[in-house]
Amino acid sequence: MRYSNRYLNAVGRSWNEGRSVEELRQTFKSGKTRGVDWRKAQLRAILRLIHENEDTLFQLLQSELGKHPVESYRDEIGVVKKSVDHALNCIDQWMSPKKGWLPLLFFPASRKLLSEPLGLVLIIGSWNFPISLILDPLIGAISAGNTVVLKPSELTPKCASFLANKLPIYLDPKAIKVIEGGSEVSNQLLQYKWDKIFFTGSTKVGKLVMAAAAKHLTPVTLELGGKCPAIFDSLPILDIEVATKRVASGKWGACCGQACIGIDYMLVEQKFAITLIEELKKIIKRFYGDDMRNLKNISKIINKVHFERLRNLLEDSDVANSIVYGGSFDETNLIIEPTILLNPPLNSEIMNEEIFGPLLPIITLDNIKESIEFINSKPKPLALYAFTKNENFKKQILEETSSGSVTFNDTMIQFVCDDFPFGGVGQSGFGRYHGKYSFDTFSHEKAILERSFYFELGPRHPPWNNFKLEF
Ligand code: NAD
Repeated sequence: MRYSNRYLNAVGRSWNEGRSVEELRQTFKSGKTRGVDWRKAQLRAILRLIHENEDTLFQLLQSELGKHPVESYRDEIGVVKKSVDHALNCIDQWMSPKKGWLPLLFFPASRKLLSEPLGLVLIIGSWNFPISLILDPLIGAISAGNTVVLKPSELTPKCASFLANKLPIYLDPKAIKVIEGGSEVSNQLLQYKWDKIFFTGSTKVGKLVMAAAAKHLTPVTLELGGKCPAIFDSLPILDIEVATKRVASGKWGACCGQACIGIDYMLVEQKFAITLIEELKKIIKRFYGDDMRNLKNISKIINKVHFERLRNLLEDSDVANSIVYGGSFDETNLIIEPTILLNPPLNSEIMNEEIFGPLLPIITLDNIKESIEFINSKPKPLALYAFTKNENFKKQILEETSSGSVTFNDTMIQFVCDDFPFGGVGQSGFGRYHGKYSFDTFSHEKAILERSFYFELGPRHPPWNNFKLEF
C-alpha cells in the first residue's frame, strides 16, 4: 500500500507505526490511569491549558472559522471549562460502587455495580467545534480512567496543531496522544484494535467507522448529523420576538449554521408564514446587519468546498426563486448571507441533504399538525425544535416522532446542560455523552455479586428428583 507524503509525515511525526498504541496500552496496563488522583490531575490540567491559552484559542477559532470570541467562549472554551468543573465535582461519586438489593433467595449476599475503564479509546472529531468536540469527550474518557488517542479534524489544522502541541505539555503524554491528519490517517487508526471508538462527524463516515469497529467488536458511539426541523406554531405576539431570536440563534448563531444541532428547516402554518419571515428579517438585521460587505457577528464557511456546496444548493432555479431574504455570497471571505427560502421544491437537494450552512428553508403547511408526518417522512433527526404553547401538540410531538432530543420553545441550549444526555437516534447516531453520560460512555459497569458460605440451598444441586421440581 502506498501513502502520500503528507500522510507519512503525519504518521512518522506523531504515530510511529503503532508504537504509540503499544505505549498507551502499556500505560493502561500499569494501572496508572485508574487512580482518582491521576484522573483529577488530568482534568485540572485541561482547565490550566484552557485558562493559560484562552487568547490563543480565540485567535485560532477566529482565523479558522471566523468565530467571534464571545461565540467561541459560549460554544467551545466555556463548554469545556464547565464540563471539567462538573467532572471534578462529581468524579468521586461517579466512581463509587453502586450498592443494591438482592432477592431473599440469594441471602446472605451483597451486590454492587463497579465502573471500570474500557482501556484504550479513540476519539475522532469534527471541525465545526474543533476544540470542544475533542476536549469534551476527552473529559469523559479521562474521568473514566482510559488512555486516549485524539484525532481532530484536518479542516481546522491550526486548532488540531494547537491540541497536538499543547496537550503533551499539560496532560500525561504517556496516556493521551493527539494524531493530526485527514481521512487517510483516520482510516489507518481505525485498523487498530480499540476498546472504544467515539466518533463525531457525518453519517457517511460514521458507517465506515462502524464497519471498521465491527472487525474487532469494538463498541462505538456515533455522534452524527442530519436535518434538524423546527416547528413554529402560531404564538401570541409578545412571544414571537423571543421565539424568532431563538430561531436566529439556532440557525445562524453557532458557526453560521454549520452545527449538527442547528435548525435545518422550519415548518409553519401557511397563514403564519409571513409574520414569521418578517420577524426573522428584523432579527437578522439587528443581529448581523444587512450590509453584505460588512456582516457582523457571523462565522465564515469553513472552506471553498463547503462554500461551493452551499452555493450549489441554491443553483436549481426553482430553489433560487424561493429566496425571500438574503442569497448573497462573498467568495473572497467565504461569507454567506443569512438566507431564507419559502417553499423550495420538496424534491430539491436542499430539502433532502443536511444543509450545514446559513440557508433556511421554510415549508408551509395547512395545519401545523401535519409537521409530524413531514418529520416522520425523513430520517430521525439529532434535535427537534418546536415553538408552541399547545400542551396537546407537545404531547403529540413527543409520542409520535423520534429524535435525539426535543427542545420546546428554544434552540441549541440542550447541548450545554450537564448530565443531560446528548446523542442521536437512527441515522443521527447512537450512544450519548455529557456529564455522567460521558463517564458511562467510556466505562464498563461491572456487576459484582458476593455470597457468603453460611447457607446453601440444597435443591439447586443434583441429584434431581420430583420433590426439587416442586420446591
Ligand atoms: P466528516 O465525517 O467528514 O469528518 C469527521 C472526522 O472523520 C474527521 O476527523 C475526518 O478526518 C474523519 N474522516 C473523514 N473521512 C473519513 C474516512 N473516509 N475514513 C475515516 N475517517 C474519516 O464530518 P465533518 O465534515 O467533520 O463534520 C460534519 C458532519 O458532522 C455533519 O454531518 C454534522 O452534522 C456532523 N456533526 C455531528 C455532531 C454531533 O455531535 N452529533 C457534531 C458536529 C458535527
